[in-house]
Amino acid sequence: MSTKIYMNGQFVDREDAKVSVFDHGFLYGDGIFEGIRFYGGKVFRMKKHLDRLWDSAKTINLKMPISKEELGKALYETCKINGFTDAYIRLVVSRGVGNLGIDPRTCGTPQVIIIAQALSLYPKEFYEKGIKIVTASTIRNPSDSLSPRVKSLNYLNNIMAKIEAFNAGCEEALMLNHKGDVCECTGDNIFIVKNNRLMTPPINACILEGITRNVVLEIAKELGLEAVEADFTRHDVYTADECFLTGSAAELIPVVAVDAREIGDGKPGPITARILSAFGEFVKNDDN
Ligand code: PMP
Repeated sequence: MSTKIYMNGQFVDREDAKVSVFDHGFLYGDGIFEGIRFYGGKVFRMKKHLDRLWDSAKTINLKMPISKEELGKALYETCKINGFTDAYIRLVVSRGVGNLGIDPRTCGTPQVIIIAQALSLYPKEFYEKGIKIVTASTIRNPSDSLSPRVKSLNYLNNIMAKIEAFNAGCEEALMLNHKGDVCECTGDNIFIVKNNRLMTPPINACILEGITRNVVLEIAKELGLEAVEADFTRHDVYTADECFLTGSAAELIPVVAVDAREIGDGKPGPITARILSAFGEFVKNDDN
């Protein structure tokens, strides 16, 4: 059976799921998206994802053509029709079909597309041994140009940094903001641990406010660990006891070296392991 893709209220076969070359999502990256996990038949943190999508839409001045309730139902239907109980869901909203110029007023109704697929995560080895990352010379978009809080279809800023990572033989790149503070990685938020205290950059440090990041902050609280949102620099990363990344696709991945500096003893740390195991339990029981 061919995968069914949700396109503007209808389900179409994967082969027929096509968008116009005049869609401004294609022409200009004019649109927004969400990457969501479906765990055990439940859309994880659905309300938070929908709220973030609506916030992204507000900032780019796009009027959502569907209600949150309808879209929530569509997420479930897409997983159901494809027979998934666990999946990765990509929800895309593009500005829609318009003229060749950038003028968004020429675009008709925004397109709403939902793609659910089986998980293709990082290899198991990355979780067991951790990954090595490098700092990219490409800085994260300053909030005043294109706020990283908008999960926009224009990911070139991140892609440029990701290419730097690959060129350096790494899987991920650390991005700094225009002030030189640590920001996030190209598709994940970052945490460091020092003296049993967790630290992650605040939302005004030019980051995407990750759903997984916020879950980790909740878990830390439940475990009685101190966790703060504060600006920090690469010096703090190099000298941290532990470091890990968070994201809907990756969940939580240990980082064992940054710019060839070993983090801690160069192995995934005990607090990272504690949070990772708590995360597994959390997603099973979460009702948010
Ligand atoms: N930062 C960026 C730039 C991202 O693209 C993502 C999502 N892939 C994240 C952080 C993590 O966000 P979330 O936990 O909501 O997936």
